[in-house]
Amino acid sequence: MYVRPFDPWSSSLCTCPPKYTLNVYTGCDHACVYCYITSYIPHAFRVREKKGLLGRLEGEILRLKRRDENALVALSYSSDPYPTVEKSLGTTRKVLKLLARHDVRCLILTKSDIFRRDIDVLKNMRCAVGVSVTTVNEEKAGILEPNAPAPERRIDALKKARDAGIPVYARVDPIIPFYTWEDFEMTLEELSFVSHVTVSTLKLRPDSMRRMKAKFPELMAKLAPLYRERIGGYLYLPRNLRLDILREARRLVLEKGLTFGSCREGYVSWPTCDASHLVP
Ligand code: SF4
Repeated sequence: MYVRPFDPWSSSLCTCPPKYTLNVYTGCDHACVYCYITSYIPHAFRVREKKGLLGRLEGEILRLKRRDENALVALSYSSDPYPTVEKSLGTTRKVLKLLARHDVRCLILTKSDIFRRDIDVLKNMRCAVGVSVTTVNEEKAGILEPNAPAPERRIDALKKARDAGIPVYARVDPIIPFYTWEDFEMTLEELSFVSHVTVSTLKLRPDSMRRMKAKFPELMAKLAPLYRERIGGYLYLPRNLRLDILREARRLVLEKGLTFGSCREGYVSWPTCDASHLVP
């Protein structure tokens, strides 16, 4: 099955409404230092095509539509629908055309700007498009997300989508204390044209902890000792610090007149944590 019910690993802090996920590719070459998928996908930073996906997907979509006419399919939560190779392969574009033909509701999330190419398809779908931007500081983003297009390009593409009438949202995710949190207001300012912002604080697994320590020894000397609380297989910041960040992030987002969501924090989100309310 390519289209699967979204499974937040039984996280007690997940507040997602029911939805399905579809990963067009296996793996993601953006190679973000903090990435979570490396803990359960072997060679996660090497992108692989899914042989047979396009041949089998239409049947799955027809069955899904019979079960639930309004099912929402999210692209993609364990990869990115727009890895570098999508420029030449165009598989996500073909998938979108298939979803559009069957009028499937769709929630896109990416750390790329390649979706600009697909605005002609997206504007005729029941969808919302989001970009993930941890910081608008280009230097920091280049270290954190070495192979992803620069934040400015992601944001520019999202503005084009907004101009085409597509509902747009952003994820400032993850917020890293003492690092990207310092840029949060500046990042939010650049994203203030979206309708909804979802945030989350940095959560760590053993492998992402190792990568963070290797890349940011000084930062992690301060941060690592704080990560003692384990929730659903992830290490979290202490609850008080986490809630302080979330409360302040929410205040700043609401001040801009946007709606606010938080991801796997068990914290208030309205109307939804994941922006799915934007999908018509
Ligand atoms: S874009 Fe997402 S899936 Fe891809 S490497 Fe970064 S965090 Fe992982």
